[in-house]
Amino acid sequence: MTKEINEVGWNLENSYGRLPKSFFSNQKPNPVSSPKLIILNGSLATSLGLNVQALQSEEGVEELAGNRFPEGASPLAQAYAGHQFGHFTMLGDGRAVLLGEQITPVGERFDVQLKGSGRTRYSRGGDGRAALGPMLREYIISEAMHALSIPTTRSLAVVTTGEPVIRETDLPGAILTRVAASHIRVGTFQYVAKWGTVEELRILADYTLKRHYPGVEEDDSRYLSLLKEVIKRQAALITKWQLVGFIHGVMNTDNMAISGETIDYGPCAFMDAYDPETVFSSIDREGRYAYGNQPYIAGWNLARFAETLLPLLHDNQEEAVKLAQAAIVDFMGVYHSNWLAGMRAKLGIFNEEAEDVSLIEDLLKMMEKFRADYTNTFRALTFHRYEKTELFGTEEFKQWYELWQARLGRQKESKDSSYQLMQNSNPALIPRNHRVEEALEAAVKGDFSVMEQLLDVLSSPFAHTTEQADYCTLPEPSSMPYRTFCGT
Ligand code: AMP
Ligand code: MG
Repeated sequence: MTKEINEVGWNLENSYGRLPKSFFSNQKPNPVSSPKLIILNGSLATSLGLNVQALQSEEGVEELAGNRFPEGASPLAQAYAGHQFGHFTMLGDGRAVLLGEQITPVGERFDVQLKGSGRTRYSRGGDGRAALGPMLREYIISEAMHALSIPTTRSLAVVTTGEPVIRETDLPGAILTRVAASHIRVGTFQYVAKWGTVEELRILADYTLKRHYPGVEEDDSRYLSLLKEVIKRQAALITKWQLVGFIHGVMNTDNMAISGETIDYGPCAFMDAYDPETVFSSIDREGRYAYGNQPYIAGWNLARFAETLLPLLHDNQEEAVKLAQAAIVDFMGVYHSNWLAGMRAKLGIFNEEAEDVSLIEDLLKMMEKFRADYTNTFRALTFHRYEKTELFGTEEFKQWYELWQARLGRQKESKDSSYQLMQNSNPALIPRNHRVEEALEAAVKGDFSVMEQLLDVLSSPFAHTTEQADYCTLPEPSSMPYRTFCGT
């Protein structure tokens, strides 16, 4: 029997809601007084099989605000736990509800979640709401990440609620519609491992395998395969973050998705000057989640994930620990070889030489020493446009440049192919912090044109158009370092 598709195009299923009752609680979004659509992601809507015009209609906007349920929705808040800055705690969706899973015209399954939709049983002291600025920030940065080919949750829409949220000042309230391969986190496994039964853990693991790793054989070693596959995807993801200078800012285990997507855009930001110690988040006082620490933190989080799987890995706990440890030890090696491959591409190198590591590290060390901008340095190398920066004027750089050119000569590909590879590997631009702030400031005052232009140039980061050049300029030197906030 074929399901009749409604006007908006919802084709929702609720497989998560059929999992054990302790995994979630049924939770309707709390209605808001006067929803208004601020931004809608037309191309994402279309790829989900949704009708853009119908979503913009009064009925569509009521759905995006949680005032009205899409056909087939069975809203729920998910339970999860997590290590926040290293401390284990019970969490759960405190300000989000999952409407259901949209089955796209090509048969893919995506969670559709309203973030900022009101209190749930997991809200603890929070109001369950979100402010417009942080929701637009998530929209801009997640879409920029997607355009950079980095696995990420997406943003379908932002609506304002017509109600203020009380933070340090009153801010306009908003709801983001987030689209994700799923919202299963390391923290979801931690929750079930800690408070559920082994049978429930097995159900969660089997569900995750079916949803995200359908290629894994359904044999007795499937949970070890799950661990290995998650490690592989995280190694790939973190590599991509490092290669573009993305700093997540709050890599708690509840913010690490088992699907391998980037999730939870709170205090994240892109690095300007290259410095492994870069931290933007105002609450990360000890630099736990600094740029250079991200691979190690990912390894730490994956070890927490592996611990949750122990009862499924082997009947004998010692054997289980050995299997988990062996898998975890692999993470850094996989990460490092991905990173090396990515860095070679950023420098136009096709083949492999043992000395490539030192060529790359020497460049990074010089960038750190002379506080060279990460994105712009690679762009300059790609286009041979050496602006008057301190780095490019040094003897050290000139010597490195000669070594690099000689290195490019030791491969069969032409220099032209090298520069083409570099163009495809080095973005023309990133969402610069001052540009994002400028767009948000205007948007909160009701002018959305700055944000729309920014989204437009960010949508094809490897195009290297002249229009994008404007967005590469660095902020004026400021006495205050750039700081980001969780926006809760
Ligand atoms: P996050 O820092 O966004 O990963 O959130 C950590 C936890 O705090 C999650 O359980 C969120 O659901 C919860 N949370 C964040 N903001 C709020 C809020 N305004 N009201 C209730 N819960 C919240
Ligand atoms: Mg979170």
